Amino acid sequence: MKVTRIAYSTALNPGKYAALVDQARRLGRIRSEVWQRFGSVGGTGSGLKDRQVRDRWLVDGTHVSFGVLANAWKETVRDAMAHIAANLAAAKVEARRAVSRRTSDPAERKRMLSALAADRWVADPFLARQMRKHWKRGRNRTHDQIVVRADQHNSVVDRRGRLWLAVPGLERRRMIRIPLSTTVAPAGTLRLILRDGRVEVHYQIDSSQMRSSRRPCGNQTVGVDKGYSEVLTDSDGARHGRGLGELLAGESDRLKERNRRRAKLRSIANNAARDGDHAKAHRIRSNNLGTVKRDRQAARHRARLRTEVFNAVHRVVDKAATVVAEDLTKHFTGRKRLGKSINRRLATWTKGVTAEALASVSGRRGSALVHVNAAYTSQACHRCGRFGRRNGDRFHCTSCGVVWQADVNAAINILQRAGDPDIALHTPHHKVKQILQDRTDRHRTRLPVQDSSPATPSGERTIRTAQP
Ligand SMILES: [Zn+2]
Repeated sequence: MKVTRIAYSTALNPGKYAALVDQARRLGRIRSEVWQRFGSVGGTGSGLKDRQVRDRWLVDGTHVSFGVLANAWKETVRDAMAHIAANLAAAKVEARRAVSRRTSDPAERKRMLSALAADRWVADPFLARQMRKHWKRGRNRTHDQIVVRADQHNSVVDRRGRLWLAVPGLERRRMIRIPLSTTVAPAGTLRLILRDGRVEVHYQIDSSQMRSSRRPCGNQTVGVDKGYSEVLTDSDGARHGRGLGELLAGESDRLKERNRRRAKLRSIANNAARDGDHAKAHRIRSNNLGTVKRDRQAARHRARLRTEVFNAVHRVVDKAATVVAEDLTKHFTGRKRLGKSINRRLATWTKGVTAEALASVSGRRGSALVHVNAAYTSQACHRCGRFGRRNGDRFHCTSCGVVWQADVNAAINILQRAGDPDIALHTPHHKVKQILQDRTDRHRTRLPVQDSSPATPSGERTIRTAQP
C-alpha cells in the first residue's frame, strides 16, 4: 500500500519558480488536450491506453507544438489518462450501487456488473443512463503541476546540510534546482504542485516503510460510529479524536468571520471602481483580497484535522483486529439537497478523511475493515431493536425504558450489522426499516402476555419465559 508524502520548497528563487510555472502551463495545455480528445466514451471509456495516445501523437506530430521535453509530455499524458480512468472508476462504483438496488436476481446482477467492468455499458440502457448520470464529462483543471519520472530527478545535500532537488526544465540538460525544507530525499515519481510561490513535492512511499506499519493491531471486533464532536465512538463506549469538535467549530467561526470581512472589502472595492477610483479598487483587491494567506491557513487546518482523524483511527486499531464501520465514501444523492454551508462542507471533508484513514491504517496494520449498512443504526435500540427517540446526545428506548449514549448505541448497532443475516450492505433504506419492524413485531407476539397474568402471591418471584 502506498502513502503520499509532501516536501516543500524553501526560499525558492522567483526566477526558477517562474520557469516552473511556465512549464506547468504548457503541460496544462497537454492535459486539456487529453481530456478533450479522450475523456469520454470514445477514449478511456473504450479502454484506450496512454501508450496508444503517445504513439498516435508521435506519428502525427502533435507533440512538436507542445514546447516541452519528451519525457515531460509523455508523463503528463500518462497522468491525465490515469486521472480520467480514476474518474471513470468512481462513476462505476456509483453505477454498481445502482445495480444492487435495481435487481436482486443474481444472474441479472452478474450480467450488468461484468458489462460495467468490461466497458460494455454503452449498449445497456440502464447502465448507460447510470453512467451518464455519474460520469460527468470532465475537463482539465490542472495547470500547476509537473510530473517527473523517477529516473529524471536527483537530489544533493550541500555543505550546510540543505537538500536540493534537481528536476528537468524546458531545455535539455538544464536542470532546475529546488531547495527543500526537509532532509529526506523524495523518491520515485514526483508530482510538483506550484502554489503561491512555493513548490510542493508529492511522492509516494510504501506504507511498510512507515513506523506505524510495525505497530500491530489488536484482537477484538469493534464497531465504530462517526461523530461530530469526536472522530469515532466505538462499541465499547470509548471516544477517539475528541479534539474534532473544537477544530471544526474553530475553523467554522474563523471562516464565517473571514468571509464577512472579505465581503465588506469587496463592496468597498466595487464602490471605488464605480466611482472611478481604480487605483484604490486594485489596491484592495491585491492587498486585502488575495488568496495566498487564505490558502495556507486552509492547508494548515486540513493538516491538523488529518492528524486528529488518523490518530483516532490508530487508537481504534490498537484494540481491533476487525473494524466494523459504515461505508463513509458513499454519498447520498437526491432526497434532500444539503446546501453549501460552511459546516456542511467541513463535515463532508472530515467524512472523506475518516474513510481514507480507516482504509489506510487498517491496511497498514493488518486489521480487517468491514463495511456495513448503517441505515437506522442511530434510531434503533441495540438491545430490543425498537425505534426510540433521540434527544441531543441521548437515546431513549421507550420500550426498554433505558437511556443510552446515542453514539455508543449506534456503534453497537453497527457492530451487530456485521453478522446480520438479512441486512446486506446494499439493502435499501426502506427495506431495512421493514426488516427491523418485522423483527420487533414478531418478538412482541412471542412474548407471554404479561398484563393478563394473575397477580403473584407476595414472596414468590415471577419467572419470565426465556426469550427466544
Ligand atoms: Zn430497547
